[in-house]
Amino acid sequence: MSMARPYLGDPKRTIEVLQKYNFAFQKRFGQNFLIDTHVLEKIIASAEITKDDFVLEIGPGIGTMTQYLAEAAREVAAVEIDKTLIPILQNTLKEWNNVTVINNDILKVDIRQLALEKNQGRPIKVANLPYYITTPIIMGLFENQVPIESITIMVQKEVADRMQVGPGTKDYGALSLAVQYYARPEIVANVPPNCFMPRPKVGSAVIRLERYEQPPVQVKDEKLMFRLIRASFNQRRKTLVNGLKNSPELHFSKEEIEQALVNCGLSLTVRGEALTLE
Ligand code: SAM
Repeated sequence: MSMARPYLGDPKRTIEVLQKYNFAFQKRFGQNFLIDTHVLEKIIASAEITKDDFVLEIGPGIGTMTQYLAEAAREVAAVEIDKTLIPILQNTLKEWNNVTVINNDILKVDIRQLALEKNQGRPIKVANLPYYITTPIIMGLFENQVPIESITIMVQKEVADRMQVGPGTKDYGALSLAVQYYARPEIVANVPPNCFMPRPKVGSAVIRLERYEQPPVQVKDEKLMFRLIRASFNQRRKTLVNGLKNSPELHFSKEEIEQALVNCGLSLTVRGEALTLE
């Protein structure tokens, strides 16, 4: 039987595949599969994928979004940790010859090398991460200078909010600043639990991070900046002076910190969470 492509993305087809392979969901891998074609189309559209693009998909599951990516992109590499999904993927993706499935933990894959091999080091696009590794993956991609134009990812609603907000809100923190140093965040869709199988307990959102060509602030020492950011939010209730003084990663005297604040025209009682990246 020939089916319209892509054919996955609704509850009926997903259940068919899961039953055929007697698939058992693994909680530790954060497995919630998308079963909503509108959300899938929205992700593909907001990631602006074209036939020129090489896309890295992290965690393809049963290949639902992979089918959409394979239609839209030139080439897709999908890295899936769960080996029981590999025979399923071989079947659900057999109609597409531009997809490579790699059975590995994404945290062990050299993504820079992959970009070099598959895309001559040109920018790649990345879609859809399992929630529990969102932060290390995103920060790793940015900090290690992997060539990336934009990342479009599904994250917990709360994490999406944290990436997007500015000072003066409870969600503002080290993640907001780290993301905003590298990229312009934009929430492109809110995705309720009933768009997934099984239903997660929390709401989700699709966020697009468009990498800046130049960071919005110029710094001499990025590593120091990230240490300062972490120290500013480690003890949220303390003043910035105390936060920086107590950080195990920084070795400034109280006098040096106070002088720096004075030089910036800031109050000595200011808290880290009140400040912008600048
Ligand atoms: N993209 C699919 C979808 O939208 O239906 C599945 C998304 S599901 C939230 C996350 C997927 O990532 C699962 O298939 C899971 O097995 C896989 N995964 C979890 N941890 C991983 C890791 N460290 N490396 C690669 N894949 C991983």
